[in-house]
Amino acid sequence: MEKLVIIGNGPAGLTAAIYAARAGLAPLVFAGNVPGGLLTMTGDVENFPGFRDGIGGFDLIMDMQYQAEKFGAYVEYEEITAIKLQPGGPHTLEVSDGRTIECSAVIIASGATPRKLEVPGEDRLWGNGVSACATCDGAFYKNLPVAVAGGGDSAMEEALFLTRFASEVHLIHRRETLRASLIMQERAKNHPKIKFHLNALITEIVGDKKVSGVRFVDREFNKEILLPCSAVFTALGHTPCSELFRNAGVETDLAGFIAVKNNTSHTNIPGVFAAGDCADPRYRQAIVAAGMGARAAMDAEKFLADANK
Ligand code: NDP
Repeated sequence: MEKLVIIGNGPAGLTAAIYAARAGLAPLVFAGNVPGGLLTMTGDVENFPGFRDGIGGFDLIMDMQYQAEKFGAYVEYEEITAIKLQPGGPHTLEVSDGRTIECSAVIIASGATPRKLEVPGEDRLWGNGVSACATCDGAFYKNLPVAVAGGGDSAMEEALFLTRFASEVHLIHRRETLRASLIMQERAKNHPKIKFHLNALITEIVGDKKVSGVRFVDREFNKEILLPCSAVFTALGHTPCSELFRNAGVETDLAGFIAVKNNTSHTNIPGVFAAGDCADPRYRQAIVAAGMGARAAMDAEKFLADANK
């Protein structure tokens, strides 16, 4: 029987692993289907404290993993395919290589996936002008035109943030009406650098090795437009990777983010904890996920000590 299994090896899972390993829990970490999580798809990370010249997303994850393993965590590149959770444990996990594992506590750090446009060019140019994080990548586009896709609060926020760097920001939304709150809409609409393209359906992201433009259909006039720009930021919302756990009885909000109790990492099932983007509808930053991971490990450690496990 394992003491603690951590599902996910992004910043939340690996920080939880560092803390839990240092507490002598020898946690078993499953990397899942996107080892390292979203950070490994980011180029340079310039907003994670401690790296004054920035650090590559992949390198940051590898360093966290090294640190966790140094203290006795085990990282496995397998997925959890099925899970049975019991209040107080033991919990039963089925692994993609056919094993069945029992454990006393689980930290879910399974992350979230940014919704995609699903258009040609998006995957090919991801990390080379296509990004889902203006906070991370916006500063690379000083005095250059950029586009933001989406019509929600995130799209408004990303567009406003990008005005600090970009020469102009084109906000492209598929419908006539925006989903964003009125106050955010007004802020974006009143900004001289932001230009709205509503009723505009993106059909392609264009570029050879990096983004050079975005193609969309102006649905009002049924006209195709090729807009030159150096980056396309997708702000289409995130889908938390929580379905497996929701089906096992873990409570989520309506959007699927795992619900935690009273500003802790406890879920509704005793002995099951959540950290990082799967439980964070708001911030979705590596440093925040890392902090949540630390908290989850501390909560799990206390749970195991109290239960004498
Ligand atoms: P939302 O789900 O609210 O908005 C997603 C947007 O992306 C919608 O406009 C949607 O279009 C569009 N979209 C989704 N899929 C596609 C697609 N395949 N192609 C084109 N467009 C697509 O997500 P957000 O991340 O904006 O917000 C999530 C939550 O976080 C909300 O509750 C929001 O209020 C909150 N938030 C609050 C902030 C604040 O208060 N400052 C800042 C950021 C987020 P359509 O409208 O047509 O469905």
